Amino acid sequence: MTDLGKRLGDLIDDYCPRCRLLLNHAIASMVDGQVVKVICQTCFSEHPYRHGEGGKKKPPNPRATLFDQVVAKLPSPAAPDPPPAPPASQPKKRSLNPARYISRHKGKPPHGKR
Ligand SMILES: [Zn+2]
Repeated sequence: MTDLGKRLGDLIDDYCPRCRLLLNHAIASMVDGQVVKVICQTCFSEHPYRHGEGGKKKPPNPRATLFDQVVAKLPSPAAPDPPPAPPASQPKKRSLNPARYISRHKGKPPHGKR
């Protein structure tokens, strides 16, 4: 009998996609000495043997990476125009204007009582 190390029904650790944990699994299917399917001993769901790997973050999407590369080559988008700077302090001409009469009737400066 060849010693394959593992046999059907043996308990091995594997990542259960349903439990999302590394749990005991029973070997349910083997091909050429390689575990193909396992059964979670916690939720009894059968799934392909994941070699104990799973639940890790997927590598970045290659398409997104390509997109980033394209974006990196593009010239940086024009920054929005900054708000117009406040005009330089203008000389105040009001103080230079001569005093005016304040009257209800234009062109008729008050001459007092007639
Ligand atoms: Zn499970």
